[in-house]
Amino acid sequence: MTSGTEIFDYVIIGGGSAGALLTKRLSEDGASVCLLEAGPRDLNPLIHIPAGYIKNVYSRTLTWNFEAEPGVGTNGRRVSLPQGRVLGGSSSINGLNYNRGQSTDFDHWAELGNAGWSFEEVLPYFRRTERKIGPGDPQFRGQDGELPITDLDWHHPISEAFVAGAGELGIPQNPDYNTGHQDGAGYFQRTIYKGLRVSSARAFLGTARQRSNVQIYTNAQATSIEFEGKRASGVRYIKGGPSGKTRTVRARREVIISAGTINTPRLLQISGVGPAGLLNDINVPVVQDLPGVGQHLRDHYGVRMVSRVKNIRTINNMVQGPPLLLEIARWLLRRPSLLAVSPSLAHVFWKSRAELNRPDLMFVFTPASFRQGVAGLLDKDPGMTCGVWQERPESMGYVNARTANPFDAPIIQPNYLAAEEDQQVLLAGMRLARNLMRTSALAPWFDKETAPGDDVESDDEFLDFARREGTTVYHLIGTARMGPASDPGSVVDAQLRVKGIENLRVVDASIMPTMPSANTNAATLMIAEKASDMILGRPAATDSPD
Ligand SMILES: Cc1cc2nc3c(=O)[nH]c(=O)nc-3n(C[C@H](O)[C@H](O)[C@H](O)COP(=O)(O)OP(=O)(O)OC[C@H]3O[C@@H](n4cnc5c(N)ncnc54)[C@H](O)[C@@H]3O)c2cc1C
Repeated sequence: MTSGTEIFDYVIIGGGSAGALLTKRLSEDGASVCLLEAGPRDLNPLIHIPAGYIKNVYSRTLTWNFEAEPGVGTNGRRVSLPQGRVLGGSSSINGLNYNRGQSTDFDHWAELGNAGWSFEEVLPYFRRTERKIGPGDPQFRGQDGELPITDLDWHHPISEAFVAGAGELGIPQNPDYNTGHQDGAGYFQRTIYKGLRVSSARAFLGTARQRSNVQIYTNAQATSIEFEGKRASGVRYIKGGPSGKTRTVRARREVIISAGTINTPRLLQISGVGPAGLLNDINVPVVQDLPGVGQHLRDHYGVRMVSRVKNIRTINNMVQGPPLLLEIARWLLRRPSLLAVSPSLAHVFWKSRAELNRPDLMFVFTPASFRQGVAGLLDKDPGMTCGVWQERPESMGYVNARTANPFDAPIIQPNYLAAEEDQQVLLAGMRLARNLMRTSALAPWFDKETAPGDDVESDDEFLDFARREGTTVYHLIGTARMGPASDPGSVVDAQLRVKGIENLRVVDASIMPTMPSANTNAATLMIAEKASDMILGRPAATDSPD
């Protein structure tokens, strides 16, 4: 059943990291904007308390509970791939670390033929979004943006020992890994301010939603893009789940898809934009044959190395009884508290081989450990975890709509560890992670390695462990990749316009042509910030501090 049609200048699909920022920017000069978000408003208090991450990441109501197809690289397991399904999108459930990547990541995007995307050209957009609290070189760090970025304020002796121990292995401390140069060890910067998560919704929608020219519909899932010939003219959506009414909203200027790396290609495909063969298979009339839609899916595949800890309590023991009450009291008083930390406290960015000129490995450390094989449940005994992943994986997979029904989960195959290079880099990473846990700085607390355990020594044994226990790091990208006309697998051009279609752009993590050496929220926000200038026809920002 179809009812009334509204018309706006811009219709944005998805109120996540990118969509929330775009809603604010595109409505600044009075243009009318409709934001359609499939999930609910972000009223659940556990979204805003950073420690609520552990509960919400597998929430049935706040996430799309996607699962990957079994793969050789995961020993035939289906890896769970949650994505945020709430205002703020994945930034409402993510691990809160703010990490831009290396300058060469973006220079590489430009070298691939994407004019305007070099580090020098994207830096003004990273800076525009953020308000770095505390130290930060203004040449690189923004001071006036809506997104406060804070330094870690909750320290634990073994996190400090982890960073000091890295020095024993020749890994220096890096006071700010967000200047384009990551090499080294240190503490994470976070999207946490005054004890609360700063999701994209909290940073950007708070003021935007007050504007009379902004309409935000939640629980409103876009089910297809409407076309007049090859021009996107509107969006069909259903409010309130599969049994709800279908409505249409029209766009005078543009439809912008910001539905994330899984849902963006799926929506394009079921709307008729994608590989013709796939569209025929699912009985969707072809509007534009675009073979790259849904292809080139990449993700970080991480492995957790766990050790038992002696002579000190870790987070495992601090989240129950009186210690927890103390942390709650501290949080209520706005003092540094365990309730306001990100899941990973310290980092190392380093090289898998000495001859490399930049890091290709990322390590995350926390004085806590999860029960083997049980999501979200901490060990009873004290523990510490060093996670590791390859920063720029080569392995690629795909997202294909299973049917034309927007409520059927798509087929997702990340092909983790398919590339030999990825296996070798991860192997080197697991060996280095083992050494990072056995430095003399950590010796007073290191008891024994429990995962994978000392009996794992050979390359085959390490890889077997990675296949059995490794998992997503939730950094999905690439399924609507940006590229020049000469790249037949690209979906959008350097202005993020969908190829062969008018008035339709993709603005989210799916456009990334290669993986940044980082968690992906910061780069996604940068993409949306840059896209807002493109959409509004403004010259590219070149600002630099005086
Ligand atoms: C558990 C987890 C932990 C992470 N940890 C970190 C971290 O610590 N640091 C970091 O930098 N990055 C992290 N990331 C990654 C980062 O959050 C994402 O890369 C980023 O949020 C992606 O932004 P996006 O705008 O592309 O998509 P999203 O933020 O996921 O937004 C997409 C939005 O579109 C909505 N939507 C989808 N389909 C439709 C439809 N058909 N109709 C209407 N709405 C729709 C979704 O509900 C969602 O709200 C994490 C991600 C996850 C899931």
